[in-house]
Amino acid sequence: MNILLTNDDGIHAQGLWALQQVLRRHHEVMVVAPDRERSAVGHGITLHHPIRAAETIVNGGDRGWAVSGTPADCVKLALMELLECQPDLVVSGINPGANVGVNLNYSGTVAAAKEAALFGLNALAVSLQCDEAPDYAVAAEFVGRIAPMVLQNGLPPGTFLNINIPDGLADPAAGVRISRQGSEIYDSPFDKRKDPRNRTYYWQGGEALPPYTEDDADGAALAQKYISITPVRCDMTDYPYMEMLKKWNFNQLKQHRP
Ligand code: MN
Repeated sequence: MNILLTNDDGIHAQGLWALQQVLRRHHEVMVVAPDRERSAVGHGITLHHPIRAAETIVNGGDRGWAVSGTPADCVKLALMELLECQPDLVVSGINPGANVGVNLNYSGTVAAAKEAALFGLNALAVSLQCDEAPDYAVAAEFVGRIAPMVLQNGLPPGTFLNINIPDGLADPAAGVRISRQGSEIYDSPFDKRKDPRNRTYYWQGGEALPPYTEDDADGAALAQKYISITPVRCDMTDYPYMEMLKKWNFNQLKQHRP
């Protein structure tokens, strides 16, 4: 099959090429990735600057496109301009660090898969829970195994899979748990500092992991050493609440018009 591979860590990121090495064994793989790290840019797209795409040789021979935009730009540009045919699957990753819970809202890795799903394509966002020296090999093998399953089963239009793989996994066939997106809040405080001119600035980071008390959620699955797979929808409508919202008394707004 034809696979478009992208990420939010930039075209030189190890996780991207670990995945490319595995996927290219059986598939046609095209790499279109940001020219620098774009982690946590969410689903932003570039409107007020031109976007450049440079064909680049990485790893002493592997080719890819380095794009001066966001992960969502990369997917959009690849699908609309760079690729000769639509891919059968779009894979974003492998991101170093889990993308679970509320972080799905910030993740560029997830946004790239979401952009592909907006085009009606099958897409995977893949992240590896890891410390400083991530070992992508097992995670990449897992993606190599699940990719044909995605094609076989298909995904509903507008739905993609968010896959998180625990660190230190020995077997790519280790347990999979289908989980929901967690809602636990990460404690990521601002560091309040002073610059050399004594003006205050803030630096965000140093995330403390939540306790993962929601057993059916993605974070808990990872904490229990399961590969977590969450189907995520692009449609953000809160359907059950639509009915409640209809019961608001919107007529009263008319009475207050001047
Ligand atoms: Mn990243």
